[in-house]
Amino acid sequence: MDQTPARYFDGKSALERPVTIHLDLHALTISGKSISPIRWPLADLRAIDRPIPGMPFRLASKTEPDARLVIANDAFAAELVKLAPQLKGGFTVERLKRSAVFAAIALASVGLLTYLTLVLAPRLIASAMPDSWRNALGIQIESSFTEGMKVCNSPDGRAALDELARRIRENNPDLPAFTLTVYDTPAVNAFALPGGRIAVFSNLIATADTPEEVAGVVAHEIGHVANRHSEAQLVRAVGLQLLLSLASGGSGGNHLGELASVLTILQYSRDAEREADEYAQKTMTSARIDPLGLKHFFEKIQKLDGDSSILGDLGNMLSTHPVTQERIDAIKPLDGPSRPVLTPEDWATLRKICD
Ligand SMILES: [Zn+2]
Repeated sequence: MDQTPARYFDGKSALERPVTIHLDLHALTISGKSISPIRWPLADLRAIDRPIPGMPFRLASKTEPDARLVIANDAFAAELVKLAPQLKGGFTVERLKRSAVFAAIALASVGLLTYLTLVLAPRLIASAMPDSWRNALGIQIESSFTEGMKVCNSPDGRAALDELARRIRENNPDLPAFTLTVYDTPAVNAFALPGGRIAVFSNLIATADTPEEVAGVVAHEIGHVANRHSEAQLVRAVGLQLLLSLASGGSGGNHLGELASVLTILQYSRDAEREADEYAQKTMTSARIDPLGLKHFFEKIQKLDGDSSILGDLGNMLSTHPVTQERIDAIKPLDGPSRPVLTPEDWATLRKICD
């Protein structure tokens, strides 16, 4: 058997042409009425689907990629497959190419997964993290950040600091829980850690001219707490596994020292800073605290840029919360009267909290 009737589609028109195909050792030749004989070399043939006895066998060829040949003759198909074994199915070059495409798609999926882990998951993990983790992480990181620093806790100063925190909470029932600790250190900085732990450096209080400036910075840090920015940044920086180790109070704390810089954990994105600023603006507005305090403080920090004397081991506000003109411009005054954060006496006492 070396020839059989078949149906031929040229791929250009929908027309089905009855043809006769002829098989030799090297090619299939298609001929029929109004068709000049077409030669499909056997090596160029590929099966559209696997040859199944009793089913029409559909073929294509590199010679005419869009054309199809349908053979409804099992014996002929079997003969053809003997001469062109790639039609049997299995690993043909085409299939390999297709699996290469699948491999590429799979690799792209891994890329997507990496993207999700790095970009999306940190926020999800940060907000899903149990409070016990948050607290354990915050305590460990704060102690490793502030090793050797004196905690400023004069009783009157502490009372003034608590009063400042109380003022920020006024008309802000949804504020997250936070604790304030002042450390005696020359860096002009403040930072928020997991578990709502907010550290304020003594030189930040000394640099501020009004309690509104300090309150504005604290409100900004509460914005980082509320948005779980430090937790998300930790997930990005050290990965989930180390976080688990840290949270369980294991040897994770030792790994912190191995990090290039703890500062990287607190270097927030532009978006995170904007979120924290917006949170601060909203919080100050509800509490009737003048947001221009924060604005003035940011302007002051911007001017201090380049003065290396204010750079401590933990950097300054500029390195952990880069202040841009855009951020300064975004801070708007209240649309009505404000109330002072502290009395002049309490402010003077707060400034002496390290004494
Ligand atoms: Zn910030």
